[in-house]
Amino acid sequence: MSKDGHLAEASKARDTWGLILSFENYEFLGSERKEHGTADLVGKKECQRCGWCCLRRSCIATPQEVAVIASYLDLSVSELIKAKMVINKDGDSYHPIWANESQLDIVGSLMSYRRTWDRGYCIFFDRKTHDCLIHDVRPKAAKISECWNFDDEADFNPEKVWTKTLLLKLCPELNFSEED
Ligand code: SF4
Ligand code: SF4
Repeated sequence: MSKDGHLAEASKARDTWGLILSFENYEFLGSERKEHGTADLVGKKECQRCGWCCLRRSCIATPQEVAVIASYLDLSVSELIKAKMVINKDGDSYHPIWANESQLDIVGSLMSYRRTWDRGYCIFFDRKTHDCLIHDVRPKAAKISECWNFDDEADFNPEKVWTKTLLLKLCPELNFSEED
């Protein structure tokens, strides 16, 4: 994501705390980007498998992709959402996203706004090997994520297809009690 992209995220902050957390996150990710040696920073146009993008934010799957990944893991869609995902609310969109390492206590729940700033690698990132544990069926959002290409997310936004109604149809037991 470009610097402008980070600043756009910061501009969505709901309150002073959100603004502080978003800029702290911006600083954190900038520092981690250097530590990881992302392709764009080392002047490459091919993935270095550094893992930074899986730390920055877990990729978002479409409903169809969630179904494929559930089958790959021998789970039902509902079981997958409850075991590996948290729900993010952004405007009218309620989209499930892979939990990160700091969010294991809230899988299957709607995240409160502050928990959206939790830091950690995606639940499917293997820290030792830098493999994606669902690489064979990873979402399109992961496939097209290229840190050297600032337009990588311009034309594809899987968040938009998710709604609360769809989520409850797929997973009626979802916990929305954290809504704020
Ligand atoms: S695409 Fe992701 S994993 Fe690959 S080099 Fe860039 S930041 Fe690292
Ligand atoms: S699903 Fe795989 S590619 Fe996507 S964020 Fe998680 S570890 Fe990275």
